[in-house]
Amino acid sequence: MKAAEGIKTRVSARVQALKPSETLALAARARELKAQGHSVISFAAGEPDFDTPDDVREAGIAAIRAGHTRYTAVSGVPELRQSISENLKRENGLEYKPSQIVVSNGAKHAIWNAFLTLLEPGDEVLVPVPYWVTFPELARFVGGTPVFVPARPGSVKIGPQELTRAITKRSKVLVLNSPNNPSGAVYSREELLAIGEVVRRHDLHVLSDEIYEQLVFGNARHVSIASLDPELQDRTIVIGGVSKTWAMTGWRIGFSAAPPDLAEGIERLQSQSTSNPSSVSQHAALRAFTGPRDSVRSMRECFSRRRDFVVKRLSAMKGVRLVPPEGAFYAFPDVSERIAKARNGVRDSAGLSNYLIDEAKIVCVPGSAFGMEGHLRISYAIGDGEIEEGLNRLESALDRM
Ligand code: PMP
Repeated sequence: MKAAEGIKTRVSARVQALKPSETLALAARARELKAQGHSVISFAAGEPDFDTPDDVREAGIAAIRAGHTRYTAVSGVPELRQSISENLKRENGLEYKPSQIVVSNGAKHAIWNAFLTLLEPGDEVLVPVPYWVTFPELARFVGGTPVFVPARPGSVKIGPQELTRAITKRSKVLVLNSPNNPSGAVYSREELLAIGEVVRRHDLHVLSDEIYEQLVFGNARHVSIASLDPELQDRTIVIGGVSKTWAMTGWRIGFSAAPPDLAEGIERLQSQSTSNPSSVSQHAALRAFTGPRDSVRSMRECFSRRRDFVVKRLSAMKGVRLVPPEGAFYAFPDVSERIAKARNGVRDSAGLSNYLIDEAKIVCVPGSAFGMEGHLRISYAIGDGEIEEGLNRLESALDRM
């Protein structure tokens, strides 16, 4: 509810300065239109369309029955921290003691903890463009200043030159997010080595958001910058979780893996803020990390198939350019040529997004939300039939502009 005209708001200036999440707002708008009976196709989903695997759900139920209903250790139950530590070793070659892992209420919370623990007021946070909407907002909220690092021309990734140009004496942390939301880009080992060199030379830290690490397709491989060498590991906080890989967005379990001093700081902060994340969810997450991976594999195969279809379909559209995504579940086509030629008043990606909702009943998040004009984010975490129909609608709506 909006405060009435002339009445002083009671909302603090720093909360007022927070931008509401555009991705969540568009997903909500899609739900609303659907509820009104419109045949809406939403490409705005930020979560898998699958259910949490059965064995994981059963583990949650069993946890309730077994009486795991009390506070746990602030940073999570020992078995879960142990299983995350083993998983990081097995999947990414990363060595972390369980004491360096803090389990939080989702990856978003883990990022919030990491920023608060690492940043002093005025510190600059280097945010590559396009970025996940939360990074600059949180950086600002905790007193830091986001500094945007443009992607290499024609690309959706930054290189060492772009990074170096953005660095100042106040630069403290580089945010890396690979596989990337919104672009689906995956940084290779070579690319990370080059970026790591700059990180070292300029005495930076890295917040490496690896929440989509299991969702990589084709020949792409996920590499954690922290695995490149011990010095980079000592400069990095790795963020991960179960939300995307196990379709567990509602359970709210994520984690940070950090050097011992930072892990201790994060734990201290969490002890005075949220305490432990849900005990029941922790037991479900434990099953996810230790149980069979069949459902993860089949979800990945499904995303991979959809990705191929989306790439083929978008690449065939006139005036649409696409850097094929290699991970996550998003495509981020460049539609600037179509916007430039539009005769219906559409001037930017936000205008295009509104036009697509009104005229084609499809919901895509505008590139402007992620700091990159002229693009649309298309999430393919929806059914195959919807993807096909939605892309048909997109093509014909673009042709009508
Ligand atoms: N990081 C990125 C890059 C994401 O896309 C998301 C989810 N949209 C998150 C973190 C948040 O994950 P969680 O639901 O575990 O908080």
